[in-house]
Amino acid sequence: MNFEDTPQEAAFRAKARAWLERNARLRPPGETAPNMLGERESADVIQKAKDWQTKKFDEGWAVLTWPKEYGGQGLGRLEAVVWSQEEAKFDVPPNIYAIGHGMLGPTLMAHGNDEQKNKYIREMARGQVVWCQLFSEPDAGSDLAGLRTSAARDGENWVINGQKIWSTGAHFSDFGMIVTRSDPNAAKHAGLTYFIVDMKAPGVEIQPIKQINGASGFNTVFFSDVRVPDSNRLGGVGDGWRVAITTLMNERVAIGAGGGAGRFRDLLKLARETRRNGRAAIEDSSVRQQLADFYIRSKGLQFTGYRTLSALARGATPGPEGSIGKAVGAPLAQEMASFAMELQGVMGAVDDESVSPQEGLWQEMYLGTPGIRIAGGTDEILKNIIAERVLRLPPEIRVDKDRPFREIPTGSAKK
Ligand SMILES: Cc1cc2nc3c(=O)[nH]c(=O)nc-3n(C[C@H](O)[C@H](O)[C@H](O)COP(=O)(O)OP(=O)(O)OC[C@H]3O[C@@H](n4cnc5c(N)ncnc54)[C@H](O)[C@@H]3O)c2cc1C
Repeated sequence: MNFEDTPQEAAFRAKARAWLERNARLRPPGETAPNMLGERESADVIQKAKDWQTKKFDEGWAVLTWPKEYGGQGLGRLEAVVWSQEEAKFDVPPNIYAIGHGMLGPTLMAHGNDEQKNKYIREMARGQVVWCQLFSEPDAGSDLAGLRTSAARDGENWVINGQKIWSTGAHFSDFGMIVTRSDPNAAKHAGLTYFIVDMKAPGVEIQPIKQINGASGFNTVFFSDVRVPDSNRLGGVGDGWRVAITTLMNERVAIGAGGGAGRFRDLLKLARETRRNGRAAIEDSSVRQQLADFYIRSKGLQFTGYRTLSALARGATPGPEGSIGKAVGAPLAQEMASFAMELQGVMGAVDDESVSPQEGLWQEMYLGTPGIRIAGGTDEILKNIIAERVLRLPPEIRVDKDRPFREIPTGSAKK
């Protein structure tokens, strides 16, 4: 395949670039792009992010792959990638919509009824309302179907009780999508129901979780007798697993390769600018060897990504091979960050954007990449997926699959 822009893509790139030049500041060469790893953003930054999204929406540059009826442009993934490549060169507010637009919007399109689609999707695209994902629990992450947050029917409402954790952006979100256990007598995957929940409803309590880098991008969310109308149910009663799978399939595509490969040029710049044994670090053969290794892996990832994109452009749907990008990319990003900090010598231990080389990019990346290796499927889970669904190796033994959930042995007294 050819990795150059086609004439149509080149024309689209020029149009996107021209709009961005009119509406944003081009980041000068050498200025490092911010490394968004989930700081607890100020209300001011959130409002700027919302206003930028609304401007893009109003002028036809938001949710490019979504159908026009939902405020999108009905374009292909290749155009969306071209747009992201160009937008990344400009100094624009952080993207707070990765979960909403990447995962929850497509879930609403696939499973929402007409009323739900009309009520929520365009507003989600316009960006003044933000959405979060309420799936993981203290005892249910990789094994998501083991979740215990309960939903009990009460007339036209459901009453939700339980605890969710690692909920990214819940503190600035207006709505969340939650998977609950509505029938503990049904088998593990069959007793789940999926809802849209108002994050400002009485009984929703959001507590920040402090991360290793000092930021608090995610939260614990407690639900105490939270009433949700039945009209907020997405999919049938007991059909929550099927709906959740749609969200998870889109999650892998949305997370992608974890960002390390795109930072190779920053690493090269650091190696050129850092002195080691009286000369530029890049002149040291061991540094050059390591850089060559990172370059080869980065390029492998980039071209694997292009191959997926070409397949999608031909009409294929995202498949399990999408797990390869994150399985390789997230560890690569972590290794690159570790190497960059080593190059910096004693300054490698300083995480302060005002004095650290490249504004502390590598320190933040080093502290953030372990989270990327966990979020949206851990390394081991991704390897299981590749083993079972790409290489067709024998599956893991799942003894609890068909038993009523209530009867599955647990270390906790709760059922
Ligand atoms: C930065 C970040 C953002 C997140 N954002 C959200 C969010 O917005 N909403 C949300 O709902 N959740 C979110 N999560 C949670 C995330 O989905 C879970 O952390 C993840 O699914 C892993 O679950 P766990 O933490 O419970 O770990 P566990 O599932 O308990 O895993 C612990 C260890 O056991 C291994 N393991 C588990 N099962 C197997 C197996 N079958 N075979 C081999 N090894 C296995 C794992 O690989 C891991 O090393 C986020 C997490 C992070 C780090």
